[in-house]
Amino acid sequence: MTGRLIDGNALARQIRAGVATRVAALTARGRQPALAVILVGEDPASQVYVRHKVTDCEGVGMRSVLERYPATLGEAELLARIEALNADPAIAGILVQLPLPRQIEAQRVIETIAAAKDVDGYSVRSAGELMTGLPGLRPCTPSGCMKLIETTGRPIEGRHAVVIGRSNTVGKPMALLLLAANATVTVCHSRTPDLGELTRQADILVAAVGRRGTVRADMVKPGAVVIDVGMNRTAEGKLCGDVDFDAVRGVAGWITPVPGGVGPMTRAMLLVNTVEAAERDAAARDAGR
Ligand code: NAP
Repeated sequence: MTGRLIDGNALARQIRAGVATRVAALTARGRQPALAVILVGEDPASQVYVRHKVTDCEGVGMRSVLERYPATLGEAELLARIEALNADPAIAGILVQLPLPRQIEAQRVIETIAAAKDVDGYSVRSAGELMTGLPGLRPCTPSGCMKLIETTGRPIEGRHAVVIGRSNTVGKPMALLLLAANATVTVCHSRTPDLGELTRQADILVAAVGRRGTVRADMVKPGAVVIDVGMNRTAEGKLCGDVDFDAVRGVAGWITPVPGGVGPMTRAMLLVNTVEAAERDAAARDAGR
């Protein structure tokens, strides 16, 4: 058996096309959505991510406002800048690229972003909305994973989903989204004594660890949907996931590659969140709220 590839690039293209249509509709009403991206410092990976975000916005007709600050920026100055963007009606979404320099407390910064503009979905308020099933902006990587799972056409309701990893940005929201879709969910982490015993029961397996080779073929149920969130490097410097792709593909029913799986979907879902924030804002303004 060879698992079918879930093509994250193709799905992201479709999603971006849908976003572009929604952006055009808002723009025609004089409400072109804009994403504010704040970069503090010179971290090379962050610079690449931020550049991608700006070009992704351009690709769907959205405006982006990139604000760069030196690594010496004080927390109070950053918070004041966010407050100004919160109050700016032209800005639909605000994203502060992480990590931040040591003198700035990241969670305080995230909590300062207005909930309606929290397009990363990292605030306590957004997490609470996800947990209680209230409408809100969901974190991009797990919501991208949900779309990848949905595209297989395989049922989620009533299935056993196993998530490896419990970070606030990936593992926990992933588990909550699967639960909201009526899967029975198990969350594994570094203290899980026998990972394979649990992963072998998974109809849907999501690996979000950050360690290559975490999921081997003997840990996967035949026919399972396998989503690989991990971003690691081989000894030769090649990008790879947490899943031993070549071997697991022989067992899984469906599998995402790295690169070309979750990564492009994370980027696409940021655009979805931004256009959604802009649509909600436009609707609220139309209603005079
Ligand atoms: P993180 O905060 O470091 O969390 C990693 C999780 O994996 C933790 O919950 C940890 O458990 C668990 N873990 C570590 N070793 C384990 C083991 N041997 N067995 C079982 N669980 C283990 O990382 P993250 O931010 O969630 O990211 C996870 C991976 O996804 C990274 O490779 C990251 O680069 C990648 N990522 C990719 C995208 C994308 O768009 N493709 C987006 C975000 C993240 P404990 O809680 O017990 O420590």
